[in-house]
Amino acid sequence: MEVRDVIIIGSGPAGYTAAIYAARAELKPLMIDGPQTGGQLMWTTEVENYPGFPEGIQGPDLMGLFKKQAERFGTEFVVDTVTEVDFSAQPFKIKTADKEFQAKTVIISTGAEARWLGVEGEEKYKGRGVSACATCDGFFFKDKKLIVVGGGDSAMEEATFLTKFATEVKVLVRKDEVKASEIMEKRAKNDPKIEFVYNTEVKEVLGDDAKMTGAKIVNNKTNEETEIEADGMFVAIGRRPSTDFVIDKLEMAKGYIVTKDDSTTTSVEGVFAAGDVADWKYRQAITAAGEGCQAAIDVKRYLDEQE
Ligand code: NDP
Repeated sequence: MEVRDVIIIGSGPAGYTAAIYAARAELKPLMIDGPQTGGQLMWTTEVENYPGFPEGIQGPDLMGLFKKQAERFGTEFVVDTVTEVDFSAQPFKIKTADKEFQAKTVIISTGAEARWLGVEGEEKYKGRGVSACATCDGFFFKDKKLIVVGGGDSAMEEATFLTKFATEVKVLVRKDEVKASEIMEKRAKNDPKIEFVYNTEVKEVLGDDAKMTGAKIVNNKTNEETEIEADGMFVAIGRRPSTDFVIDKLEMAKGYIVTKDDSTTTSVEGVFAAGDVADWKYRQAITAAGEGCQAAIDVKRYLDEQE
């Protein structure tokens, strides 16, 4: 069986950028793209913060361009999903449901997905009020009323960030206290635009034909239901990195792959991780792309050292 220099698992900004760099370094990368070719940006509409596109660009169009550039330098694509890996010995083995591949190095760039509430109207108003990324979409809510759902550090961070744009931000917390660290909680609580509503869950996202207009919420202690007005709802109830196939194979922390300081190196030599799969902190297309570039450079250096 052919042993590739590098296999890239996952096809978001990190994976495609790794492919562009690896292909230009003559490593003939093979990319196994995963269940959602293009990753999270395929679900977004307008991307206004990716440098190089001053007028903005649609998420799927941006990913199409990334793919085209990776293709141009000879990346080979397999439309399949990795189910199992064996990193215990060289060459590494990467399996999909019915195929097996072998490689000297692997870049994991399978990303992460936001956790959603799963309530009525949430899916319908995604991109039309409902979002999971304040950094990406906050700008669209100037002088609007917003809801943030969640009680962790992400919810505090999102709420605080959104006060730059919104006139008011209601943070809906399902317990009677938040889970966030004291410093993040304090910062949010000291902000006059932020109001905390405890013991409260969203039952339904309400809206008209064009966009979200509010939410039906319920107090889970009294069961009292009310409707509140809101132009946007930011769901910040945690994220799920796509790491099921590497659990027990690599060092992980809170579900994310651990990389060594200032590199994309994981706990297994020859295996690298880039983008949201290893990043709970920045979670941006541009940072993922940057890490994809780093991973390809780390791969090249590693292979050179082995020779
Ligand atoms: P967390 O898991 O820490 O918090 C999730 C929050 O969402 C909890 O309050 C939880 O409530 C709530 N929640 C979960 N499911 C639902 C639901 N269905 N409906 C309503 N509420 C729900 O996730 P985060 O994303 O906030 O943080 C992840 C990690 O990243 C943490 O370790 C955090 O410290 C870190 N982080 C650090 C930041 C920083 O330091 N700047 C910024 C952002 C994140 P409950 O308490 O009831 O379970």
